[in-house]
Amino acid sequence: MSAPDPSALGARAEAMIAELGAISAEPGRLVRLFLTPEHRRAADLVAGWMRAAGLSVSEDALGTVRGRFGSAKPRLLIGSHIDTVIDAGKYDGPLGLVAGILAAEHFARARAELPFGLDVLAFGDEEGSRFPATLTSSSACAGAFESEALATADAGGVTLADALQAYGKNPKEIPGAAYRPEDAAGYVEVHIEQGPVLEARGEPLGIVTGIVGQVRLRVTVTGEAGHAGTVPMNLRRDAYAGAAEMALALEKIAREHPDDGMVGTVGRIEAIPGAVNIIPGRVLFTVDLRSLTDALRIEATGRFTAEASRIAKARGLMVSIESFHEIATAHCAPAMQDALAASVTELGHKPIRLPSGAGHDAQVMARLCPSAMLFVRCRGGISHNPAENTSPRDMGLAVAALIRFVEKFQPS
Ligand SMILES: [Zn+2]
Repeated sequence: MSAPDPSALGARAEAMIAELGAISAEPGRLVRLFLTPEHRRAADLVAGWMRAAGLSVSEDALGTVRGRFGSAKPRLLIGSHIDTVIDAGKYDGPLGLVAGILAAEHFARARAELPFGLDVLAFGDEEGSRFPATLTSSSACAGAFESEALATADAGGVTLADALQAYGKNPKEIPGAAYRPEDAAGYVEVHIEQGPVLEARGEPLGIVTGIVGQVRLRVTVTGEAGHAGTVPMNLRRDAYAGAAEMALALEKIAREHPDDGMVGTVGRIEAIPGAVNIIPGRVLFTVDLRSLTDALRIEATGRFTAEASRIAKARGLMVSIESFHEIATAHCAPAMQDALAASVTELGHKPIRLPSGAGHDAQVMARLCPSAMLFVRCRGGISHNPAENTSPRDMGLAVAALIRFVEKFQPS
């Protein structure tokens, strides 16, 4: 097999991503949601590319398009998603899928005899932009689909179950979409970094060490509302001032573990009653805390809870904290990380190792089989934004690295 030419691969990736990026529900901005007519058009385009690449194509019960090369088992799975957020960039998701197709095409054209088969997967629901449930496509492949998701509804009241039926799918067939663990040798995903680390280090490609786990908390602080003009400062029970101190405590705790990728965010805050001349009697805010080490995240959550209670007590406030979302860290398989790193090194680049602070399909696929991710530098670290940009050169290097990775891959 001749070595692939990264610049030719990069040009093809750019053209394919542009074609996919033109499929949108709205003129002037990119909106491509799960199980919509745009999803159908994107899936058909992808299926056509897969066939042209020499893959055989099928679609599972959640609409995931699957392109197969070779009949050998086990299978090496290469995937990403074709749904988008609202007003999206065009690289988040499609890059990984296009990289998978171009890599599989390389082996299909050469009629390569690999000791495993390749499946390229185009997932339809990663962003969770239409239904509250998210990652349902990869969950079905991983055998981790939770049937409660079927009852969740979009903004128009359409349930996932109804949307699947309208898309021509039978929800009863979802269990059949799952790979048997013994048939899945590994999962690898190429994705834009969505952060500024690779750009700052001057390197095009990064090896993901793990996808950070996260917890989301809903915090309610209760004090006493009062007149902003007549209640002296020393007699106030200001719920907002207490919440602000709690937010600063979270920041301090999260800053203690920068090497672990720990980040803490208060992203939403509401003061009640919310008037310019009333001391807030009640404040609701959210906490999003992420870390690469589950034990550290759990410990930090406990410390935040204790700090919030201490602050509340000192200020004569009440605080209640409930968790409404928690997902464990997904560690990338060390052997797959090393094979990706060797591939990047062979291309003359330094394989930067970094955690992923964002969720990805690989997070769910890691429950099925050893999984890994290759990050590609993106301009300014910007994503979920039409300004999202990745150079054809970097994308070509990513596809070339993926091809080398497949050549090295050994099912364990
Ligand atoms: Zn993505």
